[in-house]
Amino acid sequence: MNTYATKTSSVVNALTIDVEDYFQVSAFAPYIARSAWQDQPCRVEQNIDRILELLAERGVHATFFTLGWIAERYPQMVQRIVTEGHELASHGYAHERASSLEPEAFFADVSLAKAVLEDVSSTRVQGYRAPSFSIGNGNLWTYDCLAKSGYSYSSSVYPIRHDHYGSPHAPRFTHEVNAQLLEVPITTARLFRVNLPAGGGGYFRLMPYAVSRWLIRRVNSNDAESAIFYFHPWEIDPEQPRVNGVGARARFRHYLNLGRTAGRLRLLLRDFHWDRMDHVVYLLAERGAHIVGVLPLAEVKSFLFGHSLVSLPFCAYGGVAAVEADAVTALHKAARELGERLGAEHLELRDRVVREADWPRQDLYVTFRKEIMPDVEANLLAIPRKQRAMVRKGIGHGLVGEIDAEPDRFFALYADNVHRHGTPPLPKRYFEALCRTFERDCEVLTITEPGGKAVSGVLSFYFRDEVLPYYAGDVPAARDLAANDFKYWELLRRASERGLRIFDYGRSKRGTGAFAFKKNWGLQPTPLAYEYWLYRRDSIPENNPLNPKYRVLMALWRRLPIPVANLVGPHLVKSLG
Ligand SMILES: [Zn+2]
Repeated sequence: MNTYATKTSSVVNALTIDVEDYFQVSAFAPYIARSAWQDQPCRVEQNIDRILELLAERGVHATFFTLGWIAERYPQMVQRIVTEGHELASHGYAHERASSLEPEAFFADVSLAKAVLEDVSSTRVQGYRAPSFSIGNGNLWTYDCLAKSGYSYSSSVYPIRHDHYGSPHAPRFTHEVNAQLLEVPITTARLFRVNLPAGGGGYFRLMPYAVSRWLIRRVNSNDAESAIFYFHPWEIDPEQPRVNGVGARARFRHYLNLGRTAGRLRLLLRDFHWDRMDHVVYLLAERGAHIVGVLPLAEVKSFLFGHSLVSLPFCAYGGVAAVEADAVTALHKAARELGERLGAEHLELRDRVVREADWPRQDLYVTFRKEIMPDVEANLLAIPRKQRAMVRKGIGHGLVGEIDAEPDRFFALYADNVHRHGTPPLPKRYFEALCRTFERDCEVLTITEPGGKAVSGVLSFYFRDEVLPYYAGDVPAARDLAANDFKYWELLRRASERGLRIFDYGRSKRGTGAFAFKKNWGLQPTPLAYEYWLYRRDSIPENNPLNPKYRVLMALWRRLPIPVANLVGPHLVKSLG
């Protein structure tokens, strides 16, 4: 079971090729009868060889949606595709549009194609792409046929407006269409409430390359989704025979910029990460499309703390999210194997509950969670008297809470604070990225004194009905103003007004000031179960500021001027996790 994500840092996109010859395209169907295919000079084999070379140059693997008709005639070409590590998938047998076939004929076509391809290649075929993206609202029964003939995914929808194909209102990204099958649509970029084609076809030849690149980048960054891109072998072949009698529009579309495509593909391979479809939609390895568990993992290499595999660094919690107990076991096993393969010294799973009773466990950390009551005042009264007096003191000083759109004021407070504690700061662009990525689920609250000066700040996450204050900072004067006390009350008050139910005060180490501060709020500490699998060490790591090993380093760090610390810190902190 390969349901783990590895250290891939940027989005991997899927590169796909529809393997058919120039005379088989739908636009030429009125001019070349199917019975005449066998008399046409074939170009597909030499074009595929060029494509295989292009891919080999950059070490990229792709998915080849191949016609059964072609596979029967060029079995060695199909075997070359598979031998070189690419995925073989189906484009149907005779390039019939799904929309022009009755269910029985469609089932026969896709089943025959699968059988031919599997026979020729001795591999299992999982994917199908309908000719001319001819699956849409009018023929959703096709998905049942595909599942019945044993396919696991379809990539048959292009959610754009086009006269020959396209379903502009279809979902733009991978989704389940039935219990066995995923639909993985060709990529579009959303702009001014319109889907723009970003996944290849004639548009890739029509538009300047920079436009295609911009659109794909937009999908990778704004949507945080993989792009699904496709092209045809005949699109890199300017010398292909011209088909006679073809209408002006089809002629323009088919022959436009053929001489430029190979060069553009080279740029595309250079500018983005690409892989085969079944690797990009990685859970497909599991038959059926039901996800029962996920384990996010990150590889950390640190000159201070060594080499580890962690779920998750920079986070209080991590570990498996699963709906079945077996999935937890399977994912832990996969994680252990991955750590072994990577040569890690240890695997660390930051769970809230004990999952592996016989693994070594760190009992240094606890978490504080409390219920938020719907009545704002009741929350204030629930705070123990002494701490409540501190909150009132803050209110009395005229402190005000403001929500900031940017993390600028927060970062200044945070950097000042961590410097006083002798630890390096996370970079500002990390917080900017958090705000950008989590959008409304990430919020910066700044506390100002009556003069308008920011004295304390906190960056929180929202998850379901929980608020999780995660990063905080303040100035030395905050203490006399009771600004921190006021800040957490302000966050709690706002959360109560929003109808949230859990205040997750986050993780603290036993024996620290933060631990004592949270206990003062009347919260009971709950131990966290950080579990370890040790490969190349015999005790669990003690990577925390309480470790005497780091005291000297921290004392030195405190003496660095802040601008220097802020410049150097991010390079250090990458490895602290
Ligand atoms: Zn096709």
